[in-house]
Amino acid sequence: MNNHLGLLLVLSGPSGAGKDTVLHRLLEVDDNLKLSISATTRTPREGEVDKKDYFFISKSEFIQMISKDEMLEHAQYCENYYGTPRGPVDEWRGKGKDVILEIEVQGGEQIRAKCPDSVSVFIMPPSLKILGDRLRNRGTEPEEVICKRLKAAREEILQAARYDYIVINDDLEECVQEIRKIIAAEKHKTARMSNMIKGVLENA
Ligand code: ADP
Ligand code: 5GP
Repeated sequence: MNNHLGLLLVLSGPSGAGKDTVLHRLLEVDDNLKLSISATTRTPREGEVDKKDYFFISKSEFIQMISKDEMLEHAQYCENYYGTPRGPVDEWRGKGKDVILEIEVQGGEQIRAKCPDSVSVFIMPPSLKILGDRLRNRGTEPEEVICKRLKAAREEILQAARYDYIVINDDLEECVQEIRKIIAAEKHKTARMSNMIKGVLENA
């Protein structure tokens, strides 16, 4: 029996913490999980594919989506705009699929306010030193952008206490397993089991 809305999971953390890596591992091991593809005005990185990694759109298209109320949340981060298109999230959740949003902290705050049943997880790097090393080893941004992202990281880490859960991404597999445990526990919350209680009583 599955007549429940899927979970709405928010994954945030500073750039370089490993959100993308963790998320892709989660998607490999959990086939009930769907990734929300964000829209952004930033330019694609080498290898990034439109409509797969992001919907790469212009600023005017982005503003138009906001004015049509097509964004569930949106934010400006390091001079670019990022937002979650609402349609696919509602559709997947309606089909009982759990949907994961990989978004920065302003968006996380908007989701907590608009969707009180959402579950938010902050991915914490083991240290700022390791965060810097990961960003530099990733090699996808010039040093100037890395410095901006590391500066933003301090502010973002200060927001971690507003999240439902904090998971440290030191060992990747451990981090993924911790998040899987959170998902499993959240599904057993009494508030999400009310239909099941009714079902058991009706089928007595
Ligand atoms: P984010 O999506 O948070 O910006 P990424 O997933 O791109 O971060 O990870 C940043 C870099 O750190 C990548 O090069 C990735 O391979 C590496 N990385 C991610 N998780 C770990 C980990 N647990 N241990 C070591 N390196 C990691
Ligand atoms: P990047 O440019 O590294 O892909 O992403 C930069 C930051 O924007 C990351 O912290 C990422 O989580 C965040 N981000 C990506 N998509 C969205 C979105 O749809 N909304 C918000 N608020 N942040 C997003």
